[in-house]
Amino acid sequence: MKNAKLRYRQVHLDFHTSEHCPNVGGKFDEDQFIGALKKGHVNSITIFAQCHHGWCYYPTNTDMEHPNLQTDLVGRMLAAAKKADINMPVYITVQWQEKAAREHPEWRVRRPDGGYVGRPTMHPHTPLPHGGWYRLCCNTPYLEASVLPVLTEVMDMYNPSGIFLDITGEEICTCDWCIASMHEKGLDPNNAGDQVIHSQEVYKDYLTKTTDIIWSRNPDATIYHNGSDKKGRHDLYPHSHQVKGYKAINSW
Ligand SMILES: [Zn+2]
Repeated sequence: MKNAKLRYRQVHLDFHTSEHCPNVGGKFDEDQFIGALKKGHVNSITIFAQCHHGWCYYPTNTDMEHPNLQTDLVGRMLAAAKKADINMPVYITVQWQEKAAREHPEWRVRRPDGGYVGRPTMHPHTPLPHGGWYRLCCNTPYLEASVLPVLTEVMDMYNPSGIFLDITGEEICTCDWCIASMHEKGLDPNNAGDQVIHSQEVYKDYLTKTTDIIWSRNPDATIYHNGSDKKGRHDLYPHSHQVKGYKAINSW
């Protein structure tokens, strides 16, 4: 059970960096980075391959590399951590991906009343015009265009000890793809109960595809599908919150 032991000090290095930020990674220094972690006795830290803005922090073959990225930040952080025996799962955003939401509004989750999920309803009291992120539907081509290729690249290029997939869950959605697949499955897009059943099937499809990519390449990798909807959902546990074969292991 070599991977089943939890690291005692785990950090989530939140890193959402828009295209307006210059010189990303230009001043990265392995010694300074590892030195700071050692000083804080951090022995596990989640780092970012792709953030909510949709930008990647490694040399990707997709069109999602951060326009001001100066170095292979992911690769250098992972290599430095390995040397220092610091566990380093890799983060990939899922249902909040601003670049895709901006370029493909048709991929956003659409509620039965026609409204989008996210901006501006997510933070109704904020004075800012950009209050939140649009939620994307994993039943649209988005999954194959962003989440799966980035995940595959990260696994093939770096084989990290774990993957943290953020903003995931079952979403009631009546986008064009969800309406079509509900019809195909004999479900009624106008029926609230059928919408729930369909949201569960879409989520399980996402869970299966992502989990398969990870564990087919590294059966020991930890997987964390971040979302608040899994309490008591034993049907979802085989895909999340554990090392394959072991139960209830956090992968942060
Ligand atoms: Zn949908």
